[in-house]
Amino acid sequence: MLARSLFATALLSAVFTTPVAAQTIYPLDRAEILAGSKFDLKVEFPGAVPAGDVKVTVDGKDAAEVFGMKPQIVEKEDGHDLTAYWLRGVSLAKAGKVKIEATAAGKTASVGWEVFDTPKGRVAKNVILFIGDGFSIAHRTAARIMSKGLHEGRYGGELAVDDMPHMALISTAGTDSIVTDSANAMSAYTTGHKSCVNALGVYCASNKNNLDHPKVETIGDLLKRETKMAVGVVTNSEIEDATPAGVVAHTRKRADFDDIVKMFYDVKPDVIMGGGSPHFLAKTTPGSKRKDDVDYLKKFEDAGYAFVTTKTETEKAVADGKTKILGLYNTGNVDGALDLKYLKKGTVSKFPDQPDVVDETKAAIATLSKNPDGFFLMVESARIDKYSHSLDPERAIFDTIMLDDAVKAAKEFAAKNDDTMIIVVADHAHPVSIIGTYDDDRPGQTPREKLGTYADAAEPNYGPVDAEGYPTDIDVSKRIALNFGTTPDTCFNAKPFMDGENVPAVAGATKGTYVENPKNCERPGAVHVTGNLPFDASSGVHSGDDVVLTAMGPGSEVFHGRLDNTRVFRAMVTALGLAK
Ligand SMILES: [Zn+2]
Repeated sequence: MLARSLFATALLSAVFTTPVAAQTIYPLDRAEILAGSKFDLKVEFPGAVPAGDVKVTVDGKDAAEVFGMKPQIVEKEDGHDLTAYWLRGVSLAKAGKVKIEATAAGKTASVGWEVFDTPKGRVAKNVILFIGDGFSIAHRTAARIMSKGLHEGRYGGELAVDDMPHMALISTAGTDSIVTDSANAMSAYTTGHKSCVNALGVYCASNKNNLDHPKVETIGDLLKRETKMAVGVVTNSEIEDATPAGVVAHTRKRADFDDIVKMFYDVKPDVIMGGGSPHFLAKTTPGSKRKDDVDYLKKFEDAGYAFVTTKTETEKAVADGKTKILGLYNTGNVDGALDLKYLKKGTVSKFPDQPDVVDETKAAIATLSKNPDGFFLMVESARIDKYSHSLDPERAIFDTIMLDDAVKAAKEFAAKNDDTMIIVVADHAHPVSIIGTYDDDRPGQTPREKLGTYADAAEPNYGPVDAEGYPTDIDVSKRIALNFGTTPDTCFNAKPFMDGENVPAVAGATKGTYVENPKNCERPGAVHVTGNLPFDASSGVHSGDDVVLTAMGPGSEVFHGRLDNTRVFRAMVTALGLAK
């Protein structure tokens, strides 16, 4: 009690002695900025400050002079009680530490940035960045067990994602929280700047309009502005989703799919493949989800893109030697490997000829590698994350095997010339762990009775593995117990979901809350599991754990130890010599 009242007193005195909030400078303190890359410098001064009283300096010199630009000063920006100072689209050419000071009404705030150079010339011709969305250590281990087999403690082979010379732990936290989402996580890889939840290619300032926040350049912007390299973005999520959007987008809100399609068009990556076609259609077109009349399919076609909607059409476009391909294979996400190849659930009956991530990767490499100046390709296996949210272990593990097959295809391409940097990394982790085996030969009916731990964790008996590394039978008597550390209230019977992706929870009687999906409670042996998440959670959540990065090829030796996610950008632009 005493400690508590002391703490309260300390808090109160802190409140009374702290003056009004200090000015905030964007980019934030400790930002790492590629020499020559563009960014918006914004300072938010609290309250009303006459323009003449505002002073912003770079290493002691007036910022406006340093950048050769007149600042825009906005009082009460967006109705907020602040004065905004803007220098948009500036860049710093000289590498080194830079101190920015912002002064008004006798108060000064400062931040330090590091401007980094890259060696002249480049060591890599191509960079392929693989993102396993939510790809955590347990997914990796489970995919290795399922795909390569585990007997007497030894695996029957190596995964392509493991068999690489360089490895690092990557920390993923954003500017606003210790647990990231896929937007600011990807943004760190594609811009080298940290950001906040839901944001892509911007710092999160006070602006009301999502598109007005201070921008930083993405690797997609940079490559198209500075080089003749080809750029590819392929995924099995909707193409507007956070990870693929991270290559091109600048918005405070990742859900701005209409704007993100426009940003894809503005940057024009040479190869774009994924789901999410409705936001490309003018609103008058049946099935459109756009709010305007712009027909982006026509615009892309007018810009020289071959538009394809199936695996067969994609293969034909590649065979015909097309250099720009827009592939949209589903109205939503492309189906994952388990449904696409074996169970034919999900939307496979509606979209029977979708490519998987491996098909997309091969088509993208074949197309992009025609460019004599090299290419940057981002490949995402998106549904490792989505199936971990829906607490569906077999689907998440299958899509990890699919990622591995895509990496294998890239390695086969890279082996020919040794001029390609390959990076495989997750954007963030999920709280998943392998805790043993669910063993139907154990007595009882419920998951707790079927679970074998320690000496009782028998080797799984999945059906024989096919040529692509997938087990041909997953509904077997001994299965990996992949435990999800976070759940809403749900019902659980520790069996694979053979009829389609798990739906762990449904809307409850109280608005905004979720309860167990009653259908799951009817499954044989199902038990009720009390959730450990806030009541508004309908699925599992991300974790703040570090993730594993593996890499190979020229420039990849920088990956070792523990690194912030922003260093992935730095490694890529260094390998490509992008500083100007
Ligand atoms: Zn996620």
